[in-house]
Amino acid sequence: MKVAVGNWFAREPVDELIWRLWEPFVDPFARCNIWFVHGRDHALLVDTGLGVASLHEAARDLFEQPTLALATHYHFDHTGSLHEFTERLAHKAGVSYLATPGAIGGALRRDAFSASTLEKYLAAGYEVPDDLLDAWPEADFDPDTYEVRSCAPTRVLDDGDIVDLGDRAFEVMHLPGHSPDSIGLFDAASGTLFSGDAVYDGPLLDGSPDSDVDAYVATMERLRALPVEVVHGGHEPSFGRERLVELCDAYIAGVRSR
Ligand SMILES: [Zn+2]
Ligand SMILES: [Zn+2]
Repeated sequence: MKVAVGNWFAREPVDELIWRLWEPFVDPFARCNIWFVHGRDHALLVDTGLGVASLHEAARDLFEQPTLALATHYHFDHTGSLHEFTERLAHKAGVSYLATPGAIGGALRRDAFSASTLEKYLAAGYEVPDDLLDAWPEADFDPDTYEVRSCAPTRVLDDGDIVDLGDRAFEVMHLPGHSPDSIGLFDAASGTLFSGDAVYDGPLLDGSPDSDVDAYVATMERLRALPVEVVHGGHEPSFGRERLVELCDAYIAGVRSR
């Protein structure tokens, strides 16, 4: 039994058009960045958290504008509330995973992960606590029944597709490696990249059964050539181009030295 908290999500403005939302009572290991972008015709929501509390309810004021909810990839910490939105965008390689929540393999307790999965997380440098939640969204919440809800995208994305908000547009970049369906969203006009788990400023995961190290190296080579101003990742604080190049180079060098 844990304390039940009313405000499950926290948020802060990044600039006049972008908000970051997150789940403060979730261990950093499974706490993703949820990005909200205002647009003239549509808003864009990049990832949706664990789905243990309703994101749609918690940020109703933001979602008054027609909102395109997009998954950077199918992993449980990014897609929990995707089903709550009427417009759902995901890469074509994630469709079958999103349809079968069991395959997503999410859990809120250390002992609910398979031994091999846990080993990969620990080897990557994560500390995985016994319990991933410091509080509960409701008094009668039961972490053992946690499962991401199955959902189907209403728009299936491919590399090069454009997600157009009216006054700004993002190009979809297929960035496989961490997962087969990982995508980034790049707005060339402002140099803004939402990178999901393809790259963030923390231990990157490439040892899961759905990871592909060779594809990841190619993704890093593609990313390091991108003229970005700012990268908003799936976890950890945002960073600029210099740090992006460092992170890409460090990953590639790490693979080559294995
Ligand atoms: Zn992931
Ligand atoms: Zn993640």
